[in-house]
Amino acid sequence: MGYSIAIDGPAGAGKSTIARLVAREKGYIYVDTGAMYRGLAVHFLKQGIDPGDADGIAAACEDADVSIGYEEGSQQIYLNGENITSLLRTEEVGNMASRSSSVPRVREKLLSLQRDLARRENVVMDGRDIGTCVLPDADVKVYLTASSATRARRRYDELREKGVPCDYSQIERDIIERDERDMNRAVSPLRQAADAVLIDSSDMTIREVADAILALCRP
Ligand code: C5P
Repeated sequence: MGYSIAIDGPAGAGKSTIARLVAREKGYIYVDTGAMYRGLAVHFLKQGIDPGDADGIAAACEDADVSIGYEEGSQQIYLNGENITSLLRTEEVGNMASRSSSVPRVREKLLSLQRDLARRENVVMDGRDIGTCVLPDADVKVYLTASSATRARRRYDELREKGVPCDYSQIERDIIERDERDMNRAVSPLRQAADAVLIDSSDMTIREVADAILALCRP
């Protein structure tokens, strides 16, 4: 088993930015589990499946092979051998990932991939259920959160910077809706593990959050 740092929390809390930074500074592999759910979501969308069709989603898992690789240290997602990393970050894929992640077969499929990686490598893994379900024995567990207003503001600024037209209230509504789905699903809901350290990043810089996590890790 490698050394593992688990970072869970709601959408937009800054998990991926922080996890990537901590992984770089520790020389560990960064595993973005949300990207795996997004990878399967691309498959479901390609098959024309409705996000509400749980049976169709479960059935479509049978001919989807999601794997991950690294190019110059950056995580790549492959779907049936094709690199689909550039397709993962759209609203449509995010919405399908959020809906399909409550289907037990979807979670089961990705669980072994995630555990396998942590067995072989030192990892910083981020997601919703890493400390509670994927790696219950992780060496360090962090629950990273921020107020929904802060998270929506960060997302809004990011989209504006990219020149994508967006509406702040809509973004905040979407974030709240996604959190509710993640926190209230029957399988592996988003919640803070009993032994996780809570970090609220609302009034912290990226550096401060990374340092707080690094202070919890072995030297
Ligand atoms: O973090 P990201 O927005 O990329 O994740 C996409 C979706 O995948 C989330 O909305 C969440 O529902 C799901 N997810 C999950 N468990 C994880 C990681 C992501 O259910 N460990």
